[in-house]
Amino acid sequence: MSDSGKRVLLAEPRGYCAGVDRAIETVERALEKHGAPVYVRKEIVHNKHVVETLTERGVIFVEETDEVPEGALVVFSAHGVSPAVHASAAQRNLRTIDAACPLVTKVHQEAKRFARDDYEILLIGHDGHEEVEGTAGEAPEHIQLVDGPDSVDSLEVRDESKLVWLSQTTLSVDETMETVSRLRERFPQLQDPPSDDICYATQNRQVAVKAMAPDCDLVIVVGSQNSSNSVRLVEVALQAGARASHLVDYARDIDEAWLDGVSTVGVTSGASVPEVLVRGVLDRLAEYGFGTVETVTTANETLTFALPRELRPARSAG
Ligand code: SF4
Repeated sequence: MSDSGKRVLLAEPRGYCAGVDRAIETVERALEKHGAPVYVRKEIVHNKHVVETLTERGVIFVEETDEVPEGALVVFSAHGVSPAVHASAAQRNLRTIDAACPLVTKVHQEAKRFARDDYEILLIGHDGHEEVEGTAGEAPEHIQLVDGPDSVDSLEVRDESKLVWLSQTTLSVDETMETVSRLRERFPQLQDPPSDDICYATQNRQVAVKAMAPDCDLVIVVGSQNSSNSVRLVEVALQAGARASHLVDYARDIDEAWLDGVSTVGVTSGASVPEVLVRGVLDRLAEYGFGTVETVTTANETLTFALPRELRPARSAG
């Protein structure tokens, strides 16, 4: 610790996950290969800085495919889309590249398979989140949304013996387990998904925050308000013992008053956040006397995903 007693604990892992890295590279490669403009349906990842930077480079973000000119190129975001969105793009003769994270696609496949086997699927997730809309759109007749433990009591199911739960990939692990145990109290025959739906990156970032939060007077999470996994990190920090926690997009969002009487500040970032923004926060904290930085490492991540087929280099003959 520094002489002043002020220090920063920096969570590791933090920031970009393999799915975000792939989605952003997908848009960058599409720009290089096809030139501007490239259309992207919804924010490619939920981060203000990423969206602003890509906009400057010639990306046009739209809400729906009907805003894209006939025949143009559109990239679908990391959160995945429903079959209805693919169909509407096809109807307009759009060229498409799907940057859905493979771990979201995995949940889509599970939803399709259980629906085919005539299961009713209880999808734990946040109402209105793009990922949930995409997954639910795979089998709308078979899926009911469960938005947290409090929505369990009002559920009505068709057949309790053919019931399975799935989840959004970016939820709080603890809150999801609470929802599942409430579900199981009501529906004892409820089946578990074949594998974890909450992705490795979400889990790892929550574990790292939990490890450092009890030692922190304040935890600053770098991330945007519409980033589910970033918002969860604030909640997890508070539940794990941080005295205060705030979400900031940029260093300039830090309110100096937050640092009154604080000696240890934890810093982490959501899975859609470029490291340059974390560096900005560390520089700002150093100006306030928090120049000593200790890293708290709970996992090492090495996973990477191949780019969508349309952007992979062509194999050389022979
Ligand atoms: S947070 Fe998880 S599911 Fe979402 S893009 Fe990253 S790895 Fe994929």
